[in-house]
Parts: sequence; C-alpha cells; structure tokens
Amino acid sequence: MAGHFLLSKEARDFGLHQVEELSTAAVHDFFALQRWGDTGTQACPGCGTIDKHYWITSRKQWRCRSIACARMFSVTSGTAFADHKLPLKTILKAILIFATNVKGISALALSRQLRVAYQTAFVLLHKIRESITCNIDHSQLEGTVHIDGAHVSGRLRKPRVKQLATKTQARDKIPADANPKHPNRRIVIVLRELYPEKGRGGKRTITGIAITEDWPAIEKLSKKYVAEGTIIHTDELGAYC
Ligand SMILES: [Zn+2]
Repeated sequence: MAGHFLLSKEARDFGLHQVEELSTAAVHDFFALQRWGDTGTQACPGCGTIDKHYWITSRKQWRCRSIACARMFSVTSGTAFADHKLPLKTILKAILIFATNVKGISALALSRQLRVAYQTAFVLLHKIRESITCNIDHSQLEGTVHIDGAHVSGRLRKPRVKQLATKTQARDKIPADANPKHPNRRIVIVLRELYPEKGRGGKRTITGIAITEDWPAIEKLSKKYVAEGTIIHTDELGAYC
C-alpha cells in the first residue's frame, strides 16, 4: 500500500546536509537556476532583457547589456531578499527549514538553528512569507479539491476563578459554543487541489478569510478559485452542502 507522500523517498530529496555541502558558487547558481531556469542567461529586473549579461565578479552582480538600461543587478534584485546581508547559503537554509516544518517554525527556533540573531530570523521568516504571498498562483483549481475552514480566535477567554469545592476549574464548564461571535473571529478557508496520483497529497493551495463559515463565503471563494466540473470534498457542515 502506498504510504503518505511525506513518508516517501521523494519527499526527502533535498536536505540541510546537502545545502551545507554546497559551495558559495553552487548556492549562487542554485538561486539563479530557480529564478531564471538557467545559469547562463538572466532577465534584467530593470528592462526585462533576457541575455547573458556582463558578470562583475568583484560585486557578484550583473550589468545589463542594454545600453539604455545598464542596470546593475544581483540574483536577489527585485525580490524580497534584495540587499541581503546574510550569505545566500543561510537564506537557502532558512527557506528549507521553513518549507520542511509543515506546522511552522518560530523565529526563536530558526535563530538557534541558523545561529543568527532573533531579529534576523524574524525578518527572514517575514521575507519568506512575503515572497510566497507575492507569487501565489491564483488560477482556478481543478481535478479533486478539498475545502475546509479553520476558526481562528474563537471565544473570549473567561477569567479563571478560584478553585471550587470540587477542585474543578469553573472555566472548563463553559460549553464550547458559549460565545461563538468573538469580534476578532476569522475563518481561514482552505481550498486544496490534490495530485491525481492517489496518496501523493496536496498539489496547490489557495486560502481565503471569511467572517463566518457559511454558504455565501464558500460560494464566493469556490466560484472564483475552483473550475467547473471539479470534484469537491468537504465535511458535513451545512454550508458546504
Ligand atoms: Zn536592463
């Protein structure tokens, strides 16, 4: 039986030890390859000219071949990591750690792993999030799509009272739906397209934020982000029916 994709060999194809072994030049080439799909030619972020631009070794930058532009640019120019002071290898490690910690990682934990200051790790995490946000593919999902909502900031926290005679805390007795309309409550609705191969998991995810998990909110998101003829899987909540 096929196991979960994250347990498979393919999910472990690139690890921290491999990044550690890469030379500075190899890391630079890796970023160039990811950005332009090629290590030989670059697209100038100023004028968009795709060419083999002049490489200036001392500055680790290219100069645009277009005489009218002649802009100097690096592999990170025009991205969230532009004007970085950290080595590219540290940035690559941060991206890898961020991507493999599926439940998220705190800036403090990242700072310890990368041996950088807390503020540095904090800014790095925000830059990674910014680059994800700026590059989300908003084209419609198709095939098989799972939709579900997560309630964030649900109920007002009731003040803890002194122990009762039974030694049970009074707050524990408040029913789960006692205060369903916290003013800050938001529903993060996730629409996730699956790979057609069984067991491979999610291919692409689009998220939306709603005030309530009801049909108008879900209909709006599904009409915008899900192609017609898609098979949708949800839970038994009435809003999805
Ligand atoms: Zn240019």
